[in-house]
Amino acid sequence: MNRFQYPNILLKTKRILKELGCGIIKRDNKHFIFLHELIYRHHRYIEKVGKGVKYFRIKMTKIDNTEFELQIRRKSNPEEIEEYGKYKYESFDWKYCATGFKKSDLAVASTRVIALYRFTFKIKNKDENGNWTCKYCNKITNNTKEIHTDHIYPQCELLKDFCRNRNDIPTKFDKEKYTNETKFRNEDFNFHKEWVDYHNKNVKFQLLCKECNLKKGTKIIVPI
Ligand SMILES: [Zn+2]
Repeated sequence: MNRFQYPNILLKTKRILKELGCGIIKRDNKHFIFLHELIYRHHRYIEKVGKGVKYFRIKMTKIDNTEFELQIRRKSNPEEIEEYGKYKYESFDWKYCATGFKKSDLAVASTRVIALYRFTFKIKNKDENGNWTCKYCNKITNNTKEIHTDHIYPQCELLKDFCRNRNDIPTKFDKEKYTNETKFRNEDFNFHKEWVDYHNKNVKFQLLCKECNLKKGTKIIVPI
């Protein structure tokens, strides 16, 4: 076990997020303290929390709508007020907090730019009744949250193949203005564009239900 007691904390976090569902989590919620302790594991805790957590917000991630995103609502610092108003939402990576492992910036930025293509595959692969079928267990659902688009050959391996023998692999990244998500810099547009083309040409997707996809677990995480 490492200092984060992975994987117990990860399982507990997933269970609590599922129980809470989307919405605002205030101090009177019985899980508020757990969420607060979770963020304390982040190496930029002080910067994230600022003058204190007003409340937490749980959302579904934007494009694929299959994962929870956890945000903090906190007071803006004086230099942030003009841009964000009195309070600011701050995203934090709850999986990193729970496990001590973080995806590389390159992996995050690369995932972001292929997300729409991945989502399009899902939409195009509904059957005539508007349902999806899990390739592994044949479960049928019309709920987009229950079905995941999985890379048969893992995306991280595709990215590694793509990066092989390139000398323009980005080492610096930009942040999205409001969500703080990592993205490619304009200077790296050539890499960005060629990666998307390479990915879309070589990828093989399959549709898996949430349970089968979690069991398959191909997401590669690198130690921080
Ligand atoms: Zn399944």
